Amino acid sequence: MQKNDVVKVTIEDIGVNGEGIGKVDGFPLFIKDSITGDVVEAKVIKSKKSYAYAKLTKIVEPSPYRVPPKCPYARQCGGCQIQEMAYQKQLEFKQNKVINNLTRIGGFSAELLAQITEPIVGMEEPFHYRNKAQFPFGTDKDGQPITGFYAGRTHHIIANTDCPLGVSVNQEILEIILAYMKKYQVASHDETTGKGLIRHALIRYGVHTKEIMVCLVINASNESEKSKESNESKNSKKSFIPHKETLIEELVKIKGMTSIAISFNPKNTNVIMGDSYEVLWGQGYITDTIGGISYQISPLSFYQINSIQTEKLYGLVLEYAALQGHETVWDLYCGIGTISLFLAQKAKQVYGVEIVPEAVADAKKNAKLNRIDNVTFFVGKAEEVLPEYYKEYRLKEDDEHRQQEDSEHRRYAEVGDRTLCDVIVIDPPRKGCEGSLLKTIVKMEPQRIVYVSCDSATLARDLKYLCENGYELKKVRATDMFPMTVHVEVVALLIK
Ligand code: SAH
Repeated sequence: MQKNDVVKVTIEDIGVNGEGIGKVDGFPLFIKDSITGDVVEAKVIKSKKSYAYAKLTKIVEPSPYRVPPKCPYARQCGGCQIQEMAYQKQLEFKQNKVINNLTRIGGFSAELLAQITEPIVGMEEPFHYRNKAQFPFGTDKDGQPITGFYAGRTHHIIANTDCPLGVSVNQEILEIILAYMKKYQVASHDETTGKGLIRHALIRYGVHTKEIMVCLVINASNESEKSKESNESKNSKKSFIPHKETLIEELVKIKGMTSIAISFNPKNTNVIMGDSYEVLWGQGYITDTIGGISYQISPLSFYQINSIQTEKLYGLVLEYAALQGHETVWDLYCGIGTISLFLAQKAKQVYGVEIVPEAVADAKKNAKLNRIDNVTFFVGKAEEVLPEYYKEYRLKEDDEHRQQEDSEHRRYAEVGDRTLCDVIVIDPPRKGCEGSLLKTIVKMEPQRIVYVSCDSATLARDLKYLCENGYELKKVRATDMFPMTVHVEVVALLIK
C-alpha cells in the first residue's frame, strides 16, 4: 500500500479511537469518519508495515447504522468521534470494546463474561449532556472575534456557538460575549503574539438547580492580588475588562445566571484556567446535586461532566457495594468525595483518598454542607496512604496480641470484632492502579471491591491481578458517560 493510493473498501469494524477499519487483500486500513457497514472510497495518507491510515474521500454505499450528524462540524471538530453512528450502535461498540479488553488483556473467558456482563447503561437523550464547557476565543480572517472548538489535534478554532453536546444556553451566552467584544473592540487572545484579552469562556450549568456560571479567562494578571502583596491602596486596582458593566448587564438577563467571574491567566500555556479568579457578579459558585447531595462548584472545582449518567453510575456503585449500614468503606481516588458522600449515607464509616489537596478541601466542605460526619478524607497517593494505614493497623494489632498474651483474661473477641474494611471502591485515572496498591488491597481482604474505570484496558490488567489473588469477578457493567465520543466508563464487582 502506497501513500496516495485510492482504494474502495468495506468497513468491518471500529478501532478504539473510533476510526472505521476495512481490509484490502487482508491489509487493514484505518479510516476516520467511516463506520461499520459503509462501503467507502479512501486515499492512503500514511502506510506502515502492517496497516495504513486513509482519508475518507467518498461514501459509496452508506452503512445502515449511519445517521446524519446533528452538528455540521462533527468531522472537523476534535470533540466528537462517532456522531454519525446510530446511538444504539455506539452503545454496542462500547460494550464490545470493554468485553474485548477483558478477554484479551484480562484473560476472562467469553462464557464467563456473557454470564456476568450487564447491558450498557445508555442515555435516553444522548445530546446536551455536558454541564461544563470551555470555549476558546480567536479571530477570523476578517479580524472579528470568534469562538467554538479546536479542530482535532490542533489549536485551529472552528467557529461554532451551538455545540449539540453542551447545554442550549451556551449559545446565548457566547453570542452575548461576542457582541460585547465586537462593540467595544475587545480582542481575543492570540497564542502566537501573546496579545489580546479574552482567552476562554468557561460555562457551568447545574442540571438540577438550573444555576449558571460564566467565567471569562483573560490574558492578564490579578492586579488586586499583586496590590495586596505590595500593600498598595485598594484604589490602584485596575479595571480588567473594559465596559464590564454592559457585559454583566446582558449576562444577568439570562434566567438562572448565578455567578460571573474572571480567571487570570497571563501565561503562555495550554492550561486553560489561571491560578486565581475574581467574582464580578453574584456568588463564586453554583450549586448542584447528585443523588440528593448538594455540591458547591466554583470555577476551578472538579465535577463530573454528565450529571444524569453520573447518578446512574453512582447508583451502580452503591448496588455493587451492597451496604447494610455496618460497613467500613474506602473510596480511593475520591476526587471531591462524590462517591464517598453517596456511600456514607448507607455505611458506618467511609475513608476517602485523593492526591489533589484542593479536591480534598472541596470534599470536606461538601461533607459539612450536607451534614455528613462519618467520612474522613486523606490527601495523598492511594498507593502510599493505604499501605501506610495498613502497616499502622498491623503494628497496633500485634501490640494488642502481645498484651493479650500477657494478660490472664484474653479478649480475642475484641480483635475479631473489628473489621479493617468491608468494601473498597477504586476509581483511578486512565493508567489504572499501581501494583503496590493492589497488593495492599489484597492483604486487607475486603469482602467486596468495586472498580470504576475510564479505561477498560487498564481495568482488565488490574482485574486479572485481583482475580489471581483471591477475588472473583461477579459483575461488569459499562455506562455511557460521553455519547458521540469513544470513551466508556465501566463498573466491575469483585467478591472475595
Ligand atoms: N471518584 C471521583 C473522581 C475520579 S477521577 C468522582 O467520581 O468524581 C480520578 C481521581 O484520582 C482524580 O481526582 C485524580 O486527582 C485522582 N488521582 C490521580 N492519581 C492519584 C493517586 N495516585 N492517588 C490518589 N488519587 C489520585
